[in-house]
Amino acid sequence: MALLQISEPGMAPAPHQRRLAVGIDLGTTNSLGAAVRSGIAEVLPDEEGRMLLPSAVHYRPDGSARIGHAALAERAADPRNTIVSVKRLMGRGRDEVATDGARYDLAEAATGGGQVRLSTTAGFKSPVEVSAEILATLRQRAEDTLGDDLVGAVITVPAYFDDAQRQATKDAAQLAGLDVLRLLNEPTAAAIAYGLDHGVEGNYAVYDLGGGTFDVSILRLTHGVFEVLATGGDTALGGDDFDARLAGLATVAAGVVAGQLSDAEHARFAAVARAAKEDLTDALIVDVAFDAAGVHRHAAISRDAFAAATSDLVDRTVESARRCLRDAKLQAVDIAGVVLVGGATRMPQVRAAVERCFGKPPLIDLDPDRVVALGAAMQADALAGNRAGDGEQWLLLDVIPLSLGVETMGGLAEKIIARNSTLPVARAQEFTTFKDGQTAMAIHVVQGERELVSDCRSLARFELRGIPPMTAGAARIRVTYQVDADGLLSVSAREITSNVEARIAVKPSYGLGDDEVARMLQDSFGAADSDMRARALREQQVEAARIVAATESALGADAALLDPPQVERIRCQIDAVRQVADGVDHAAIKDAIDALSHGTERFAELRMDASVRRALAGKRLDEIA
Ligand code: ADP
Ligand code: MG
Repeated sequence: MALLQISEPGMAPAPHQRRLAVGIDLGTTNSLGAAVRSGIAEVLPDEEGRMLLPSAVHYRPDGSARIGHAALAERAADPRNTIVSVKRLMGRGRDEVATDGARYDLAEAATGGGQVRLSTTAGFKSPVEVSAEILATLRQRAEDTLGDDLVGAVITVPAYFDDAQRQATKDAAQLAGLDVLRLLNEPTAAAIAYGLDHGVEGNYAVYDLGGGTFDVSILRLTHGVFEVLATGGDTALGGDDFDARLAGLATVAAGVVAGQLSDAEHARFAAVARAAKEDLTDALIVDVAFDAAGVHRHAAISRDAFAAATSDLVDRTVESARRCLRDAKLQAVDIAGVVLVGGATRMPQVRAAVERCFGKPPLIDLDPDRVVALGAAMQADALAGNRAGDGEQWLLLDVIPLSLGVETMGGLAEKIIARNSTLPVARAQEFTTFKDGQTAMAIHVVQGERELVSDCRSLARFELRGIPPMTAGAARIRVTYQVDADGLLSVSAREITSNVEARIAVKPSYGLGDDEVARMLQDSFGAADSDMRARALREQQVEAARIVAATESALGADAALLDPPQVERIRCQIDAVRQVADGVDHAAIKDAIDALSHGTERFAELRMDASVRRALAGKRLDEIA
């Protein structure tokens, strides 16, 4: 996460001084670059006039690499050395890509804190190096078209890329010899391409269905401030899934089972299915021809049949979009416009569903494949100092993707900053000590939506020491969470009465990825009920431990105030609480606690009287009044 992006108010240079900058959409499936020339943003084509560069890199044993279409051409013959969808691995640790691991041949780095490496015939490659190959290709295109006066690039990233993923993207650019003027969120770039930054006010939705991912964001524009209100989506849903459905329809229609295809036939069929899917966007029926076990087959697939076979996929995107609206605390009617991004939004069934969901036709004037790169190019142009005037500044705000909290007694996560809070943000909460005379407190910073710490991600631990000894519950410890504009968290804890303070800056070496964010959210939605029960049980267990400790400390100090049988009865009640405290019977723990607290009422009164007498002992009446 980075955010609060404020464009430098540039002076317009004289025409001959015009500084050229490129905007790059570094996509999971396709990447492309664009630049503003003669005041108009245009995509930069390759020498054959193609705009999209497939995000694919093929490595050869001699260490050389082929990028884009040339790499995809090698994929069927040499899949292990053809890296695709590397964006999913950017800034991620080995254990964070376990689910994606099957797609790649992964190896752990010898150094580098467990960051992922891909094992290829040309040696180990980091995702940063692979991405750098793609960026270098686009840089070359830009220099061929614009000359070599390129001052830098704006590179787009998904809105909920975390700090580590953003840093990895920057590293890749640097490796490719590009000066990064700024990283820009993809939905924001799309909004800029539509000119929504020019005096437009209101809430906008950006619906982005790419090759392998779906992202939806709600942006709010007010007085030149561009704010990302909420983000959502599904990192395992994209055009590829539609290809697979089309392939399924074709095999069934041709009376073939998928297992009959050899690996090579399968690879070719995947490309055929994808092309057929794209053709169905304009045609009402397509003929899908493929080989199965050496036999030539074909099947006619209609647009309606394809729409019916993919309606559940489309419904899932709509469900994510609704959830994102809810997170932004908005309704469909509050949305002034919907921007379509990503090649897969060309499919008519997708457009129709978006229109139904938001109650208005989406904006489709710009090519959904190019809109992000075009917006990035405009931002790059502004940052290079080619635009003047106050109206041309952008102030972009972002949100945190998952709640930040602290561990409290019993392994419970107490949320301090809620998910989707706008950055920068600071929040404080007060806590107290649990034991008499407690002089230190461990602070465990966690991230996630779940009630139990064990279901959240641990970000950092530190200790507040030197708390003056006080009775349990008397200390006042104020824990403050602050997330700055770059998305970096710092946590401080201060005991108010003594002013003892400790603080820590949290910068995870690699943070949560989209998948993990999505999974953790999914888990929390599914688990809300059982979480609440687990929380109630933990709270009861903590209360049991607290009352046992408090009663024992009271007996230790003042047992003399009671008769031996009274002491014995209280000890029995303590034992009764102990026996059930670690169990899962919520009601039994509560009953035992109630019995003990009831049984010690008289004792508490006696202690109170005694302590008042002690305080007053030896004092004259006029001293007390
Ligand atoms: P990413 O953001 O993941 O790099 P893109 O925005 O380039 O992806 O989208 C790629 C997806 O768009 C692919 O699944 C591709 O098949 C699909 N696509 C491109 N053109 C069309 C079309 N005319 N009709 C349907 N899908 C299309
Ligand atoms: Mg994209």
